[in-house]
Amino acid sequence: MGPSPRRGSLDFVIQKHRARALHYDFRLEIGGVLASWSVPKGPTLQAGVRRLAMPTEDHPREYGRFEGVLPRSSGSGVVMLWDLGGYNPEVETSKGVRTEVVANADAVAESELKAGMLKFTLYGSKLRGSFALVRTGGIGGRDAWLLIKHKDMFCAPAYEAGDYDFSALTGRSMAQISAEGGGAPSTTLS
Ligand code: MN
Repeated sequence: MGPSPRRGSLDFVIQKHRARALHYDFRLEIGGVLASWSVPKGPTLQAGVRRLAMPTEDHPREYGRFEGVLPRSSGSGVVMLWDLGGYNPEVETSKGVRTEVVANADAVAESELKAGMLKFTLYGSKLRGSFALVRTGGIGGRDAWLLIKHKDMFCAPAYEAGDYDFSALTGRSMAQISAEGGGAPSTTLS
């Protein structure tokens, strides 16, 4: 762990959020905002495992720096910066062969988001390597997406996000953040 040189053209952040139910807010910078999904079971590094990811509203990029306790007026709950870093979108250059896009990354990500098939490489402190977010048939009239880890050298069998209860920014656990409070959210949270 520890600081490493920034890689990836765009920001990503995953906020572990204990509200009514615990979930992980998975956010990718696209078009100047953080496109967002709520992942109840959290992301995993297990190859091919599909995690339900329900789309939520876009958030301002500044919100991606928030860790602390939200006031009830802002959605309430405890928020940890579980992972953060940069990412690059990927394009499939031939069947099964994905290549990272650095120049024009934002336009490519926006196009893939609209198409419901986002492929990307994460450079986080916990999550690394190639992933996909895929839109599937809706659940109860809402779009549902799946977060999937592609096979690569960063895959880890039995990886569960819940086994890593510490902030990528401060090292604090959810219990410590809850006890210490702090933070000044400038916006509401889903
Ligand atoms: Mn949330």
